[in-house]
Amino acid sequence: MKLSKKQQKALQATNVDMFFDLPVQHIETQQTVRLPDEKALSRIYDTLNYRYFDGKLPKVKIEWSSRMRIAGKCYVEHRLIKLGRKYHEYFPDEVEDTLKHEMIHILYPNHGKEFKREAERLGATRYAKEYPGGKSPHKYIYICPSCGQKYYRHRRMYNCSCGICSIRGYDPRYKLKLYWSAKSRRRSR
Ligand SMILES: [Zn+2]
Ligand SMILES: [Zn+2]
Repeated sequence: MKLSKKQQKALQATNVDMFFDLPVQHIETQQTVRLPDEKALSRIYDTLNYRYFDGKLPKVKIEWSSRMRIAGKCYVEHRLIKLGRKYHEYFPDEVEDTLKHEMIHILYPNHGKEFKREAERLGATRYAKEYPGGKSPHKYIYICPSCGQKYYRHRRMYNCSCGICSIRGYDPRYKLKLYWSAKSRRRSR
């Protein structure tokens, strides 16, 4: 029996097992946020430089770091700003804020009085973007393979199913999959 496109869609919507069998990888690529590439980052930098510093900050290179778990770091002597990819996959809307924060560091290395004044002027955060010790507020994000709801957790979860999709208690059809983990790129000791 050949199903029409409409029927196939209806079937996919009801039969979660079709989704359930997809490897985690597939879900990840489907849902992964798009972050600006390094060229786009440079453009944002230039814009902010002109808007807030009359274009007086030096040209710096801006790179994504997959290993870094903090939001960003400014290497003034190397004219380099590194942004943490993990952090921004988690907080994609914070790219500009992090960039502002690191740009102020070009002028002031510490979060002192002058830094605070500049942060207020630029509307950038003074501390929030720096996790002491590189800790993120949540260590794991789980996702429902059916509805896509994300769950933020400090601990690993085993055999938990989506609270929205499961009607009564644990339902293996809606078992949550690991979507993001702060540990996944950490070196094992
Ligand atoms: Zn800082
Ligand atoms: Zn769900």
